[in-house]
Amino acid sequence: MDYEAVIGLEIHVELNCPTKMFCDCPNRPGDEPNKNTCPICLWLPGAIPQFGYEALEKATLACLALNCEIQEKSAFDQKVYYYPDLPKGFQLSQAHYPLSRNGWLNIIGEDGQPKRLRIHHIHMEEDVAKLIHEMEGKTPISLVDFNRAGAPLIEIVTEPDMRSPHDAMEFVRLLRTQIRYVGSSECSLESGTMRVDANISIRPKGTDQMNTKVEVKNMNSIRHVGDAIAYEIERQKTCLAEGEAMTMHTRLWDPVKKVTTAMRGKFAGPCVPDPSVPPVVISREWLEDKISCLPEMPARKAERFHQQFGLTDEEAFQLCTDKDTADYFEQVMSFPVPARMVTYWLTTQLMPVLRERGDALATSRVTPSRFADLLGLLDRNEVNANSAKEVLARLFETDLPVRTVVDQGGFGQVSDASELEGIVARILEGNAPAVADYHNGVSKALGFLIGQAMQASGGKANPKVVREILMKRLATQ
Ligand SMILES: [Zn+2]
Repeated sequence: MDYEAVIGLEIHVELNCPTKMFCDCPNRPGDEPNKNTCPICLWLPGAIPQFGYEALEKATLACLALNCEIQEKSAFDQKVYYYPDLPKGFQLSQAHYPLSRNGWLNIIGEDGQPKRLRIHHIHMEEDVAKLIHEMEGKTPISLVDFNRAGAPLIEIVTEPDMRSPHDAMEFVRLLRTQIRYVGSSECSLESGTMRVDANISIRPKGTDQMNTKVEVKNMNSIRHVGDAIAYEIERQKTCLAEGEAMTMHTRLWDPVKKVTTAMRGKFAGPCVPDPSVPPVVISREWLEDKISCLPEMPARKAERFHQQFGLTDEEAFQLCTDKDTADYFEQVMSFPVPARMVTYWLTTQLMPVLRERGDALATSRVTPSRFADLLGLLDRNEVNANSAKEVLARLFETDLPVRTVVDQGGFGQVSDASELEGIVARILEGNAPAVADYHNGVSKALGFLIGQAMQASGGKANPKVVREILMKRLATQ
């Protein structure tokens, strides 16, 4: 039988607020253990949580970035369960009245067509503490770090609209881009500021039945999200083929063995309204103010780049995936340089070097104006592409003007025809077999001769002019 997968995601995103959700402790989980705590986030008896405005603002911006309808009234419940990372016995979460509902993101499906994936709702909740498992001598011990307890989170719950690992990975990528644009979170699966759980079931293709779903956790990269879902779909198909009944449970992705394994379920208790945190009521004016603060979002920015700078849809989309890259591009474009050259050099030369060095665009020595200076020289044939790459590498090490770096390094391109004529003449004389090959129709002979001439010029010749002179000479020989 032909099966299809039904996939929904539950995504926790840690908001990058300066303080925790219900107290003024710094929201820095990575600090020395238990440094950022107070009676409220240690959950001591009698401490009254105070809901923070920053968390509401960042959560609202994230909801708007995901096209959700903000609810006028939302409220916190006590999600009751006990676990050593939650010693107070309940987590404050919006179980019944979430902050927003009915969102969506449009991804590009596997068939190349746009596909809308719906978001059921987004709610706010506090994070739990972190358990650290260690050995004390030969005795295994577990420690609790409360730095993360009470950290502000949102949970995004999608509709089960995804049908493949591709859909899920594209959704997570786009969600990350959108939330980063509004500045609510870094959304990094690697560092744990985003956590993705996938609910997966399979059914005969073409039917709309909903079968027992299995939850998969513990994927710490987008690639792992795809791999874990792909594995789980195949595992369920095998189970069905062997006549095994599916039971609802949670599995952990093992990134080393590339398998999912069943884990012990946590007891899930009831959700009861919390008496200490007042309902969150959002006024029309406040919401309109937040909407007016939204930046130009990636899809719209890409469309503008396409119109304004003549980039292809693909180029514009690539640039706008990261807001810093898009902003940098626009700053470079305030100088007279060709847009597509900037795009090409930014994405294929500058960004890879930055990533390798662990630098950020905003703080790199290659400022937009210096990058524009370099590309201007390239565009006017004053340096060739090879030299431009070397100059770019040096710009990371010095604050000297680009022109000075070019002059001092002798990177200026030789376009002077008489100088190049001399070089070409010597190359033709010294490479008679290649010249003969060329006349016998061996296509790579021309490339070889150009390469020789480039080498003879110390890599500084204008390859276009070299090629023209060579062709002209060869035609008369
Ligand atoms: Zn605190």
